[in-house]
Amino acid sequence: MTQTTDLPQATPLLRDIFGFDAFRPGQEEIVDAVTAGENVLAIMPTGGGKSLCFQLPALMRDGVTVVISPLIALMRDQVRALQEAGVAAGALTSGNTEEETEAVWEAIEAGRLKLLYMAPERLASGAAMGMLRRIGVSLIAVDEAHCVSQWGHDFRPDYLRIGELRQALGVPLAAFTATADQETQEEIVQKLFDGQAPRAFLRGFDRPNIHLAFGTKDSPRRQILGFAAARKGQSGIVYCGTRAKTEALAAALREEGHVACHYHGGMEAEDRRIVETRFAREDGLIVVATVAFGMGIDKPDIRWVAHADLPKSIEAYYQEIGRAGRDGAPAETLTLFGPEDIRLRRSQIDEGMAPPERRAADHARLNALLGLAEALKCRRQNLLSYFGEAAEPCGNCDLCDNPVEVFDGTTAVRKALSAILRTQETYGAGHLIDILRGTETDRVRAKRHDELSVFGCGKEYAKGQWQAVFRQMMGHDLVRPDPERHGALRMTDAALPVLRGEAGIELRKDTIKTADRRPAVKA
Ligand code: ADP
Ligand code: ZN
Repeated sequence: MTQTTDLPQATPLLRDIFGFDAFRPGQEEIVDAVTAGENVLAIMPTGGGKSLCFQLPALMRDGVTVVISPLIALMRDQVRALQEAGVAAGALTSGNTEEETEAVWEAIEAGRLKLLYMAPERLASGAAMGMLRRIGVSLIAVDEAHCVSQWGHDFRPDYLRIGELRQALGVPLAAFTATADQETQEEIVQKLFDGQAPRAFLRGFDRPNIHLAFGTKDSPRRQILGFAAARKGQSGIVYCGTRAKTEALAAALREEGHVACHYHGGMEAEDRRIVETRFAREDGLIVVATVAFGMGIDKPDIRWVAHADLPKSIEAYYQEIGRAGRDGAPAETLTLFGPEDIRLRRSQIDEGMAPPERRAADHARLNALLGLAEALKCRRQNLLSYFGEAAEPCGNCDLCDNPVEVFDGTTAVRKALSAILRTQETYGAGHLIDILRGTETDRVRAKRHDELSVFGCGKEYAKGQWQAVFRQMMGHDLVRPDPERHGALRMTDAALPVLRGEAGIELRKDTIKTADRRPAVKA
């Protein structure tokens, strides 16, 4: 079977330059407004991803973007990262060597620079102001915009010059800060925008009308058909991991009497456009798609989004479910996941061309999603806390609806980890479960695994129950399939304290109870 996966359209820069597969909450709208040349004030929590909101527009617009920031080390980091990604960026700060400054001036004079980072002190110099007037600045981006506030503790007097600069150049300005209080906002508007209200992005990330739910995959086709059957006649999207699956699932939905079509990056542009137009105009159409579908789709009344396969990252998940319920009316989501998804996503990361740091970051983003999938309490709290926002239990997710019961799974997990250790981390879950359950398969006998001390130490659980244990272990990132050894499970550092008895692990009771309908211990 071909594992053709698609990328979201419309933002090749996001992937190619920045290495992200989806926008974080809020980013897309801000990027659109800044690129369009609007004056913007964006308030995002620290770590929310502000820099992308001016870096990406800088690449989409003609001319130079001037970035003002008080944090020299941070500017240097960003410039280095941009240069490594092949973007012409430079910084004029007091931290520069003479050669660096020389090189930046040269690049400016040659008209080569896309992003010029400057410390605010530079604005005091006539030479720098003159230069900015000459070089075709098309956008001013101000990081840490609250530094313009005279009453705040981060006040930087030179920030007051930014307003003059904007007027002198007559170009749009985008201001960013994590400080959200009303007074600071008003001061920013006064000082940077001369009192003329910019387009403000202050909305929190929460989309309270979207119901969040995850399900363990047992028969995905039946599960998705069941979900759709309960929502017949409503517009919805089913996301699949492969192109082939979109076609098969769309056909299955049609057989059940739904109006459904498939959509993926392998289709002719014209056929894709037909689906996009139908989806926008018709009520009750289901589109079964890869992630190629969605960017730029802004249908307000999408009533549900289902994932037949686990998305790539927590960002991708948020973005995809976020297409539902833009009108504010209740919308529902269901995300299915299983061990095969985890294996596939990990191997996609490991087999990709990305440099090692980026791969590590991709694993971390996948881990965050798995943590959400295996969450034991309110999903929205978990999701929002990842994006830096605190929240109360939401009352609108599957875990708030039906709190899960947990049990101390430390013993089970330790048995599984010992089985992995005793077999030198060379086997996948299937064989390990045979060992734990004391099943004498040919392979067990051939490898003499029936002689291991762990052989048969886990008879209390049926096969499906052990599968649930292994899946939750992957969700907790205690074990990872080794892509070079056909998914052999290897322990991560997080497993060691559990193995040594220094840490415990809670597991979900429901997955253990319902994972297998056969009796737990066979006669
Ligand atoms: P802020 O300036 O808001 O504190 P940054 O711009 O430094 O945040 O971004 C914080 C982190 O989030 C960085 O490590 C960045 O690589 C990451 N990040 C930003 N946008 C995305 C995205 N769309 N997908 C995944 N990671 C992102
Ligand atoms: Zn909740």
